[in-house]
Amino acid sequence: MSAPWQKDGYEAVIGLEIHVQLSTLSKMFCSCPNRFGDAPNTNTCMVCLAYPGALPVANAEAVRQATRVGLALGCTIPDASEFSRKQYFYPDSPKAYQISQYDQPMCGEGVFVVPGADGFSVRLTRAHLEEDAAKMIHAGGDAGRISGSAGSVVDFNRGGTPLLEIVTEPDLRSPEDARRFLTLLRATVIAIGASDCDMEKGSLRADGNVSIRPIGSTEYGTKTELKNMNSFRFLERGIEAELERQVRIVTGGGVVEQETLHFDPASGALSSLRSKEQAHDYRYFPEPDLLPVRQDRSQLERLADGLPELPAARFERLVDAGLTEPTALALAIDTELAAYLGELADRTGDLRSSANWVMGELSAHLNAAGISAAASPVTPERLAGLVALVAAGTINQTAAKEVFGVLVDDAAAVAATVVDERNLAAMADGDALLAIIDAVLAANPAEVEAFRGGRQQVIGFLVGQCMKQSGGRADAKALQGLLRDRLAS
Ligand code: ADP
Ligand code: ZN
Ligand code: MG
Repeated sequence: MSAPWQKDGYEAVIGLEIHVQLSTLSKMFCSCPNRFGDAPNTNTCMVCLAYPGALPVANAEAVRQATRVGLALGCTIPDASEFSRKQYFYPDSPKAYQISQYDQPMCGEGVFVVPGADGFSVRLTRAHLEEDAAKMIHAGGDAGRISGSAGSVVDFNRGGTPLLEIVTEPDLRSPEDARRFLTLLRATVIAIGASDCDMEKGSLRADGNVSIRPIGSTEYGTKTELKNMNSFRFLERGIEAELERQVRIVTGGGVVEQETLHFDPASGALSSLRSKEQAHDYRYFPEPDLLPVRQDRSQLERLADGLPELPAARFERLVDAGLTEPTALALAIDTELAAYLGELADRTGDLRSSANWVMGELSAHLNAAGISAAASPVTPERLAGLVALVAAGTINQTAAKEVFGVLVDDAAAVAATVVDERNLAAMADGDALLAIIDAVLAANPAEVEAFRGGRQQVIGFLVGQCMKQSGGRADAKALQGLLRDRLAS
């Protein structure tokens, strides 16, 4: 756990509700395409537009994916689950109810572990399957919000797409841990291919439930709910701002009201959306048009066995193999980068230096080019050739970076050939290095004197000068050794 959030004698209590859009081909209860970005209101039918008498049919693939997410997150999967109607009136729901789940969700309790030296675990309450609402677009006014807008239109393409709502217990104790938890959870869902969890497109949406209590207290205070924070940074900042607000209220003698809030990342302001409704306001009752879902134990075992390596397990494996925690985490949450590293390390036989390349030059190149590891022109095979030259001492780090640049620019280039053509082989030969060293020492008598007078740090300057004279090709270790010998004599 990161340091708990505390202020003026109060500590933070945070629980998250996370909506994940499942990437099935069709919607939850009809055969309309489940696709983002199509022209508005083109993916609709009698079922998702709620024509009278149209009947829903549960999407088996959505059930399967929801179950896989539950298994990956460590939830229990009950033998049976049931759909329920959640009644509410709003233009984004043409039936005037949402088919959701209530007392028999698809996935039951679980514990999700964020590994690491400052790791922690979060109890999951449940994960239930439901249909998404249509998308409301508020035109005119500020930032697409309904307040101050001139009018609203509805795009029913999203209406009825499968959504899994994952609910945590209020186990998080800082905005930072909320972000860390959500990062790993998102990576887990992506790793199993159940959703792209693209926060910008809205396929992952997180609500933060926030309260404070006196440090050491075991009771919960009144919570507020922050709606739809669509980036990790906003989630962290929004929760932080709300914690600050609650502490200000309580230390000023007031009481926190239960309400739903909107966080505006631009201004940092929190505004009230509505006072919070209770579950009984929704008049949940079992959906009469759908059968309960029964899970088959042997099928569940097959699904569990079929899960790929999950980010938490990958993190542990990479740390055990000697990588630092930040490196292991970066690779744990990026399945494609991890696969690239796996292939590279298989070829080089050296996980650590391979990881340095993947996290360093390769990632910089991928970010700059805006491409994923799988799309990189520098394949693991080509990079392995370069890593081998460094390992053998044929070239130094500086030259290796130059060669990498050539591999990026020229898809046909081969590391060894580039080294020959550009004459980049490291200068480890003592005589050549000594000639350079002597020239540099002769040209910088003041520094030499300073070093001999005890100013050890001057060596950095002298090494730099020698490196420059060698055209960046000097073997850094050999150079340091020879230079020290020379200065000592
Ligand atoms: P509601 O009745 O408002 O739906 P729930 O008890 O179902 O509340 O919890 C919804 C979410 O709020 C969960 O993620 C839960 O962890 C979180 N939560 C509940 N109580 C608190 C609290 N006092 N402080 C912070 N989060 C809380
Ligand atoms: Zn439809
Ligand atoms: Mg609830």
